[in-house]
Amino acid sequence: MSDWDEQGWSSTEGWVCSDCVSDYALRAAIDADADQEMSCSFCGSSPAAPLDSLMEVFVAGIGTEFEDAANILYWDGNEGGYQGPAIDKWDLLDNVGDVLVGPGLIDAVRGSMHTRHRVRSCLPHPYVVLGGPRRCEL
Ligand SMILES: [Zn+2]
Repeated sequence: MSDWDEQGWSSTEGWVCSDCVSDYALRAAIDADADQEMSCSFCGSSPAAPLDSLMEVFVAGIGTEFEDAANILYWDGNEGGYQGPAIDKWDLLDNVGDVLVGPGLIDAVRGSMHTRHRVRSCLPHPYVVLGGPRRCEL
């Protein structure tokens, strides 16, 4: 398994400024890596940080709330794939992408992310099939 697969996204060319995200942790990550010489690929503002700096924190954040479906759910090719509430990256970004407010930013993030099915770390009991402490605490 390569590092790429491990991190779940591919390196990007873009630059992004902190005005293009609405989440505090994401803004902080961009501010930390911001370069005065560079301008945002999405809104044109300076300074801007490599889009990779945002990807790293954004995808890591997703990892605390969502897990690889492959780790949790049964997969059955004859029954339509994952047997449970797995979502793909399009659904995922519909859920969590509202912090990516820059014009076109969500599309760039979606393009960088690998297609990988995920499920919420906390699942209702019927879906907890592969063991592990994945039951919702209600
Ligand atoms: Zn921007």
